[in-house]
This record gives sequence, structure tokens and C-alpha cells, in this order.
Amino acid sequence: PADEIMAIRQRHLGKNLSVAYDSPLKIVRGMGGFLYTETGQPFMDGVNNVCHVGHCHPRVVAAGQRQMAVLNTNTRYLHDHIVEYARRLLDTFPDPLSVCFFVCSGSEANELALRLARTFTGQRDIITVDGAYHGNTQGLVDISPYKHDGPGGRGAPDWVQTVVMPCGYRGPHKGTGRKTGAAYARYVKTAVDCIEAGGRRPAAFICESMLGCGGQVLLPDGYLWAAFEHVRAAGGVCIADEVQVGFGRAGTHFWAFETQGVVPDIVTLGKPMGNGHPLAAVVTTPEIAGAFHNGMEYFNTYGGNPVSCAVGMAVLDVIQSEGLQENARTVGAYLLQRLSALKETSPLVGDVRGLGLYLGVELVTDHETLAPATDHAAYICNRMKDYGFLISTDGPLHNVLKLKPPIVFSRKDADALVDALEKVFAEDCL
Ligand code: PMP
Repeated sequence: PADEIMAIRQRHLGKNLSVAYDSPLKIVRGMGGFLYTETGQPFMDGVNNVCHVGHCHPRVVAAGQRQMAVLNTNTRYLHDHIVEYARRLLDTFPDPLSVCFFVCSGSEANELALRLARTFTGQRDIITVDGAYHGNTQGLVDISPYKHDGPGGRGAPDWVQTVVMPCGYRGPHKGTGRKTGAAYARYVKTAVDCIEAGGRRPAAFICESMLGCGGQVLLPDGYLWAAFEHVRAAGGVCIADEVQVGFGRAGTHFWAFETQGVVPDIVTLGKPMGNGHPLAAVVTTPEIAGAFHNGMEYFNTYGGNPVSCAVGMAVLDVIQSEGLQENARTVGAYLLQRLSALKETSPLVGDVRGLGLYLGVELVTDHETLAPATDHAAYICNRMKDYGFLISTDGPLHNVLKLKPPIVFSRKDADALVDALEKVFAEDCL
């Protein structure tokens, strides 16, 4: 029973490990876009962007099982899997991004990206975006305002410059166009100036290609282009965190940075890459990768092991052969359109935004002051669970309903989800 599991979790897993929902949900099985309880009750998964091609996709499961029965070892030996997978993965990137380092989590990827940037530039300062989350290591908590500004937070260390979140709904500049993008990029220029005033140069600017923990924020046009110019002019490198948004989720492009018309110097990958199997990577240029040259600078025991590579290859196969990027584009556009219609019927809906299957609905109690409807958002998530839909909240104010389902999500699923949302929005207490 759930109570017993909760008591054991508290005793043996620490009190920090929180669960979704006021009354926690116990699940025993997943398939496609659904999770199931012991009694077989289905829940439509509207939020899990890790099981990217669907929970327990049979081709991914079979690939992992097959490889696990034959060989699993580290990169100190030659094996085919890592080179085949690296070539296949790198084929999806524009030049000159042609080298990858395999790791096991998004945090490891970002931590390694920072080390690479610092080794390459010989500098230490990092520019990060307000509200961002980049991972759970000490170095990443330091550049994740989402964490260090929260309860128990202690502010950023002196080598971190935090710039204003480029949000066209909530922030000093409004809109999504190029003017807004350039205006927000000027904060990056100010951060560069500040580092230079101290007699140093930036090591890196790190930014998600669409902001997740920041509240499902779509970067205004031209933001990365202008920000990259400022950073590169000062000798720093530009890191795109695609841990959440990569692998076709954006729909129009395979990598979300492509929507901004830029090529980053380093790209970090994670979550969807192994469909739930711990697999992640750092992709960069030969020049930057060359900063690690003596073989002692970096080693990862599990990174790029044959089982991970087999699983990663199967994920790429499934995305391509099942047309899932195109599905994310068309179903995402349809879902965005249906969600946008909620603005007409519910006064709580302040902004509806996103791209592909990476969408957010920001709830406010006042359209002038943009006072966040945080409690309403939590209530809606709990009620959606009662209707059999799993969604969650994001954003520093926890008032953004986030929708980022496995990209097998269909138009029928979109209709069912929005129909249920409509019912919840129509409740008297909202
Ligand atoms: N970057 C981003 C944008 C993330 O959202 C996360 C995880 N939520 C990470 C990095 C860290 O990934 P992981 O939890 O796999 O270490």
C-alpha cells in the first residue's frame, strides 16, 4: 500500500525525495504514452520527456536486452557499438560539431561541458540564465539559479554571472520577435563586460535552447544568435543545454538550437537519449575536444558502454522510422492551438507557449500584475490525475502547467487531455 511505501521511503531514502501529487500514485507498468497502476488503471503521461519514444518501447527494450546478453564493458577496449552510435548520432549535428563524449546523465554532461570550456579557454567565469536548472553536481547547482535561489539557497558564487531570463511574457521586454531577442541578449553583453572589468574573460555562456525549469519559455527570435556573438567576441564558448529539448521534441528541427539559427560550440544531451536508460553526451568541435589531449583528463566508466549505445541507436531508429519528429511538430501545433483556446474560456490562463511537444500554460490571477496562480496550478494537476492525466508544474513561481509527453502523443491524446483540462477549469472553485 502507498502509506507503507511512503514510510519506508522516508526512513531509508531520506526526507528530500518528494513525490508527485497530494495522494501519491503507485505505478507498476508503462507502455507507449500510458502508465498503469496495480489494478490496471491507465494514466496518460503528459509530462515524461525521458521516455521519449514511449514507455518500454519494444524495439528499445529488445535492443538493450540483446546487447546485455552478449557484451557490456568500458571504453578502454575497442568495440563496434560506440563508434557506430557516435557516427550515427553526430550525423544529426551541423558542422563543426563532430566529436562526442558519452556520459550517463544530463548532470555529468553539463559538468563535463563546463570543464571542457574552462580547459579550452583557460578561464573560469560562467554566464547562466536566471531560473535555469542544469543539474545536480556542486558545480551545476552553482550555475542553476532555480536551485540556489530556492529554499535553503545561498546565492551564486563569484564566478557566476546570472542574466535576466529572456521571457517575452514575464520580464522587462515583451514579445517573441528579434527586437526582444536582441534586447535580452544585451544582458549577456553586460555580464561579459562585468567579467572583463575584473580583468578576466568568460569561459562559457550556458543556456537551454528552450527554457524548461524557467517555465517552458520559448526563447525570443535571435536571442541565442546575439548572445553568442557577445560571448564569442570576448573569447568564451557557447553551450546549448538540450538535455530536455533535444531529439526531435521541438518538431520543426531535431535540435532546438536550430530554431534559433545558431551552431553552439558545445551541446549537452540527456534524458530522451536512452528512453529512460541512463545515457547522455557532450557534443563539441574537434578544436574544443582537443583541450583534453593526454588521456588522463577525462574517463567515464559507464559512459558509452555497449548496452547504452545499443539502446541509444534503437531510440534514433524509432524516432526516424516512426516519424516521431514530424509527429511532435503536427500534434504539438494542434495541442498549442487547442490550449490557446483556453484563454477565451478561463481567466486564469495568462500565456500559452512552446513549440512541438514542449508546451506551457502560465496561470495568473491578474492579467495586469501577472500575480501567479500557484495554488490553482497545483490544484489543477491533482484534479487532472483524478481524470487519468498526469501533468505537472514548472517555472520559478510554480504556476506554469508543463506539457511534454513522450513524442508518440497523438491528436486523439491531445483532444482527451484538453477536454479534461476544460472540465477542471470549469469547476466552481477555480
Ligand atoms: N539540464 C536540464 C535542462 C535538465 O532539465 C536536467 C534535469 N532535469 C539536467 C540538465 C540534469 O539531468 P540529470 O537529472 O539527468 O542529471
